[in-house]
Amino acid sequence: MTNCIFCKIGKGLIPSTKVFEDEYFFIIEDIAPMAAVHYLAIPKRHYAGLSDMQASDGDMLGHMFSTIGMLEKQLGVSGGYRLVINQGDDGGQTVGHLHVHIMGGQKLPFHDLKELR
Ligand code: AMP
Ligand code: ZN
Repeated sequence: MTNCIFCKIGKGLIPSTKVFEDEYFFIIEDIAPMAAVHYLAIPKRHYAGLSDMQASDGDMLGHMFSTIGMLEKQLGVSGGYRLVINQGDDGGQTVGHLHVHIMGGQKLPFHDLKELR
């Protein structure tokens, strides 16, 4: 995708603080952190979101999640963390390239979904 900010970051065309990279995905610091530690794990391949994935993409997702688990210490979230995917408008997705928020470094509050009733 030529006009996608995360594709551009992946190619090094836009600066970022990359803390991990392999063949399949990379991890950067979120530019507007919402927790003491806030990273984004981003696949190198452009997926608009989860709804853009095929069953065959499951290996890549599994690889991404298990690698995040192995990087806990390096990322400074050994005490625990929350992974979040905001999918689509209702989910609050603002960047149309699949990404997983990694948030931790503190006790995280829970949003009370009952407020939505
Ligand atoms: P979402 O709302 O789930 O689509 O999340 C998009 C996230 O990308 C937000 O948390 C933004 O702060 C973050 N973000 C947007 N632009 C950049 C950037 N250039 N570098 C790092 N994070 C970014
Ligand atoms: Zn993209």
